[in-house]
Amino acid sequence: ASEAEEKDLVIIGGGVAGYVAAIKAGQEGLKVACIEKRGTLGGTCLNVGCIPSKALLNNSHLYHQILHDTKGRGIDVGDVKLNLGQMMKAKDTAVSGLTKGIEFLFKKNNVEYIKGTGAFTGEHEIKVNLSEGGEQTVTAKNIIIATGSEATPFPGLEIDEKRIITSTGAIALDKVPESMVVIGGGIIGLEMGSVWSRLGAKVTVVEFLGQIGGPGMDAEISKAAQKSLKKQGIEFKLNTKVLGGDTSGEKIKLDVEAAKGGKQETLDSDVVLVAIGRRPYTAGLGLENIGLETDDKGRLVIDSEYRTKIPHIRVIGDCTFGPMLAHKAEEEGVAAIEYIKKGYGHVNYGAIPSVMYTHPEVAWVGQNEQEVKASGVKYKVGTFPFSANSRAKTNLDSEGLVKIIADAETDRILGVHIIGPSAGELIAEGTLAIEYGASSEDIGRTSHAHPTLSEAFKEAAMATYGKAIHF
Ligand code: FAD
Ligand code: NAD
Repeated sequence: ASEAEEKDLVIIGGGVAGYVAAIKAGQEGLKVACIEKRGTLGGTCLNVGCIPSKALLNNSHLYHQILHDTKGRGIDVGDVKLNLGQMMKAKDTAVSGLTKGIEFLFKKNNVEYIKGTGAFTGEHEIKVNLSEGGEQTVTAKNIIIATGSEATPFPGLEIDEKRIITSTGAIALDKVPESMVVIGGGIIGLEMGSVWSRLGAKVTVVEFLGQIGGPGMDAEISKAAQKSLKKQGIEFKLNTKVLGGDTSGEKIKLDVEAAKGGKQETLDSDVVLVAIGRRPYTAGLGLENIGLETDDKGRLVIDSEYRTKIPHIRVIGDCTFGPMLAHKAEEEGVAAIEYIKKGYGHVNYGAIPSVMYTHPEVAWVGQNEQEVKASGVKYKVGTFPFSANSRAKTNLDSEGLVKIIADAETDRILGVHIIGPSAGELIAEGTLAIEYGASSEDIGRTSHAHPTLSEAFKEAAMATYGKAIHF
């Protein structure tokens, strides 16, 4: 395309938010280009986030299961060995297949892919520092910023991605460390902590708050998850603050202090994973050239139609408000294009599921019990344990429960919380229920195939307004 040609839309960032918006724009017949500096499409999620972490979670789980959970199933295995290099290769294959898939979808949907770093030089103009050298100026009627996020650093601990690592180092270690301390017991800490614990590292999670799982997880479910992960060998230090660290010796020394009482101790480890959250990434974007500012958390400020104060410049995904989740970014990518093309769009932020891919998995949608209680709404709770579900029992994988919170007056489902086998798949039904405003009785009176894990969801719903049959 010629430099002079004005596009209908230019998107900065080819992560989930940006690439989905680009494909949708192409489908809507907009003349669209997407600028990405990484060298591959798919952003954090496909390259260093969701996909590689799930490849490692899946295969480390299989390894761990073969080591510890085959005898009772009638399977005698011989010598089991870890081939970490091959496990990493399988992860890389998953990543490259999926990122190339996005490139194919760009071609199919007439999206121009510009490889390079984009920066604003005007309200309709972006200068791209091309990856292969040189510059290109792109002008557009509409611009979407989708530049994503980066790991929040821990002050005083310099990230080298070898000994002091973020999730990016944690998906690429070349040997299993003897010991690992994880700072932050949120989703990244627990997922990556699980991977390395299963592969043989002694993992200790240091969490500032009194519960694990990060913001949003129901307190009862969080306790159950902690119990389960502890049984697998992960050690937890909750209500504990990291004061600082010393990386000069062979072992890294972290000084930690209990929030109550102030008792201090030093933790030795080979690797420290910093997983205390992520922050929006807008560095080098030239925001100052167009007078756009970020808030105190680094987020670009937008209205309900994703518009900045310069209305033809919109922002979606991790670099603005809301949960930092790939499927949230994806919904916004579609909605932003609908606003541009049709003038209306919609994302239901009350029905965005969260999944933690540990074993057992944890998944939830809607409000947790703490939130419902604080809102003052009268509510009822129905639970059903997987230990009473025929399929979970048959599969010898019956840890966990389904918990449904419904409005006591209207019976409308307010929140669904699952810890257990395939929780991440089961939560889709809860999300659909909340999206459609279902009551727990709607679910309880819907036939669910037998024997399936989904019957636990139906029975938890029955327990919300009446009684479960099997418990
Ligand atoms: P990003 O994916 O970060 O993409 C932004 C892109 O913009 C990047 O590729 C960047 O290179 C590019 N960019 C930035 N500035 C410029 C510029 N000036 N010019 C050109 N390009 C630029 N979410 C889930 O829902 N499920 C999961 O299982 C999950 N697992 C995760 C595991 C890990 C270890 C991590 C770190 C995150 C995980 N997430 C998960 C979160 C998910 O990755 C993010 O929410 C998602 O990637 C956000 O998409 P985005 O497009 O907003 O940003
Ligand atoms: P998080 O916000 O989920 O958890 C961070 C945890 O660190 C919190 O529990 C917090 O209390 C704790 N913490 C903060 N400062 C601390 C300190 N100084 N000392 C000790 N603990 C401290 O963040 P994350 O786990 O880093 O994940 C970042 C983002 O990536 C999240 O938004 C998450 O949703 C997303 N992500 C999602 C998935 C998934 O969907 N499966 C997987 C990985 C990451």
